[in-house]
Amino acid sequence: MRPRDLLCPKPAGLYCPPGDFYIDPVRPVPRALVTHGHSDHARSGHGAVLATRRTLDIMGLRYGEDFAGSTQAAAFGETMDINGVAVTFHPAGHVLGSAQICVEHGGTRIVASGDYKRRPDATSEPFEPVRCDVFITEATFGLPVFRHPPDTHEIGKLLRSIEQFPERAHLVGAYALGKAQRVIRLIRDSGYSKPVYIHGALAKLCDYYSSEGIDLGDLRPATVEGGSKGDFAGAIVVGPPSAFADRWARRFPDPISCFASGWMRIRQRAKQGGVELPLIISDHSDWDELLETIVETGAGEIWVTHGREEALVRWCELQGIAAKALHLVGYEDEGD
Ligand SMILES: [Zn+2]
Repeated sequence: MRPRDLLCPKPAGLYCPPGDFYIDPVRPVPRALVTHGHSDHARSGHGAVLATRRTLDIMGLRYGEDFAGSTQAAAFGETMDINGVAVTFHPAGHVLGSAQICVEHGGTRIVASGDYKRRPDATSEPFEPVRCDVFITEATFGLPVFRHPPDTHEIGKLLRSIEQFPERAHLVGAYALGKAQRVIRLIRDSGYSKPVYIHGALAKLCDYYSSEGIDLGDLRPATVEGGSKGDFAGAIVVGPPSAFADRWARRFPDPISCFASGWMRIRQRAKQGGVELPLIISDHSDWDELLETIVETGAGEIWVTHGREEALVRWCELQGIAAKALHLVGYEDEGD
């Protein structure tokens, strides 16, 4: 079977004609397979949703239990039959519950990887390379300039700054799903055991990660009622990036603004966002991880979904691997 007859881009997302389902559709569809819980991939209002149990749990937390007509949990490594198409979920290493989706039919195997990363992350199931004919990859950081430093190095910068400025609060911007929990866990793994204060928007997901056995240590609400600014001297406060622009941030003493994102590799971007302490911590593959993964899948053809496609497509062509950009719209890197 020709790959394009097994999966093809449609306005609503990647569609599988023989299986009659979409992967990560951006509009409501009768049947959706969802790679992970970020809002640009997991939307509410589908007829039926197939995803890992953790992704379904996360969608329920974000959208309410009635986010789809019906749901079915996919276990990693277990093959299911959907209208004659074999479908298997494999870990993507991006956020808790994140999956690559392998579809196989008529002797052709395509892996849609969603968002993924390769480096160790105690808050996500580790990425598993899957051999396939066509590998569909994101390219959020698909330029050679993007090489993420070790995350321990970045957390070290934060802890040194706290030592240096014990009277100031450190406000760490991190996306609510995945990045926030990973940053907190990295802080714990580096030996910091004091309370970490979190914005209310992170509470449900942090509780969920903890309930799934991911220890985040002593977390407390970042509220000032009954206390004073001084209570947050030297404290780490984690919140969604949007919270730092509003009044909420002003309650902390002489705050140092930090932001954990792969984009912090670009100094200009940090400066524009008023970020004093950029932390280059990403839940996406950097350039080297993208190349390593493409080679490991053994795929003869690469389709690039979103991000900076051109350099990656060009690199594949130089290696003798066919490649094209799918130009899918509606994916905005919620968890960069
Ligand atoms: Zn994502």
